[in-house]
Amino acid sequence: MSNPFDNAMAQLDKVSKIKDFGSDFILKLRQPDRDIKVSIPINMDDGSLRIFEGYRVEYNNALGPYKGGIRYHPDTEINEVKALAFWMALKCAAVGIPMGGGKGGITVDPKKLSKDELERLSRGWVQKFSDILGPLKDVPAPDVNTTAEIMAWMADEFQKITGDKSGAVITGKPVGQGGSLGRDTATAQGGFYAFEALKSHLGLADSCSVAIQGFGNAGANAASIWHKAGHKIIAVSDSKGGILDLNGLDIPALLKFKQETGYVAGFSGSQDITNEQLLTIDCDLLIPAALENVITKENAADIKSKVILELANGPITSAADDILFKRGITVVPDILANSGGVTVSYFEWDQNLKNERWTEREVLDKLRPIMESSARDIFLLAKDLNIDLRMGAFMIALERIRAKM
Ligand code: NAD
Repeated sequence: MSNPFDNAMAQLDKVSKIKDFGSDFILKLRQPDRDIKVSIPINMDDGSLRIFEGYRVEYNNALGPYKGGIRYHPDTEINEVKALAFWMALKCAAVGIPMGGGKGGITVDPKKLSKDELERLSRGWVQKFSDILGPLKDVPAPDVNTTAEIMAWMADEFQKITGDKSGAVITGKPVGQGGSLGRDTATAQGGFYAFEALKSHLGLADSCSVAIQGFGNAGANAASIWHKAGHKIIAVSDSKGGILDLNGLDIPALLKFKQETGYVAGFSGSQDITNEQLLTIDCDLLIPAALENVITKENAADIKSKVILELANGPITSAADDILFKRGITVVPDILANSGGVTVSYFEWDQNLKNERWTEREVLDKLRPIMESSARDIFLLAKDLNIDLRMGAFMIALERIRAKM
């Protein structure tokens, strides 16, 4: 299978065929401003030394400081981080926030480290990149397997090295340590606002059946939010596998079960299914909220949902997009659907720089119109040109970046 960066470049090639952005501009966007790989030596609890590979990719800062999360995963490698950084640049532009695109990561399975080892590794990542990070230069955030606590260690390490006390170098911090109210649920909440704005245009009813792949920050919060709004969550999954209940899962009880056992499989009253089965369930709305490249040309013809809302980054390959579009399945693309996360990260950065603390209501009242108007603009452009919503979002984003460059 192609790597995520190949997929990102295939998307860029596709949009260049719809609109002529100029060959120099497209050439510039085919490479990040810089991609850096470092080795991070860590003393393990048993006294041995291990070397981990860490990454930071700064893709484009035409609109503002590089912005993007840090992923800890055994499969993380430079092409994945480059793709995620490219999508971050387009995401910030698609919803009109003054940030550029970046991303970082470490090749590691954090579940195999003790808490002390995890802290040393996280501080080690900051030590390697402290020269290029900074509130007005490059501002990381959480991503897969990185938490508010990890962001707090990183902010503290940056302050120790540079003396910067604003905390604005990193977002997604705990609320008591400079974090913003509403950041933990912002990705799913933003996706929900976009969904609400588009629901009637997409022919969806007030109560939808929903399947969600991934049950972490994005997926579990989405399950709660859609459930509370009266939708029926019929299937969810995590890295160990999935569960199905056509009558609708009891989400508050499932959240408790996941917290106690670490997984969703085995939840009472549900039937175990695989992650592959989850993707092809007959439902109104499918929400991929785990990793990249899960819907490909191999399974796109089997998808039965009416709409797919991408809370994960890059879950659908470019070839699969074409198949889904021809089949009349609408994809609400990642750079719109999950942009609530970076939008509230931007709010956190703004609060830190101004030394302000906004209420959760203020945060949501600022997030909602951004998501709604971006969703509507992208939908109307795509409808007008008879293209998919991803290409609509790319066109708006690229035009904003090009205008600045
Ligand atoms: P997370 O670490 O909190 O959760 C990831 C979830 O995916 C876990 O439940 C894990 O068990 C599951 N998972 C891992 N491998 C899987 C597999 N092979 N099949 C099914 N499930 C699997 O991460 P997150 O922050 O929720 O991120 C999930 C996705 O959302 C990523 O693509 C991330 O880039 C994207 N995203 C997250 C944010 C954010 O604010 N956290 C913002 C924008 C986009």
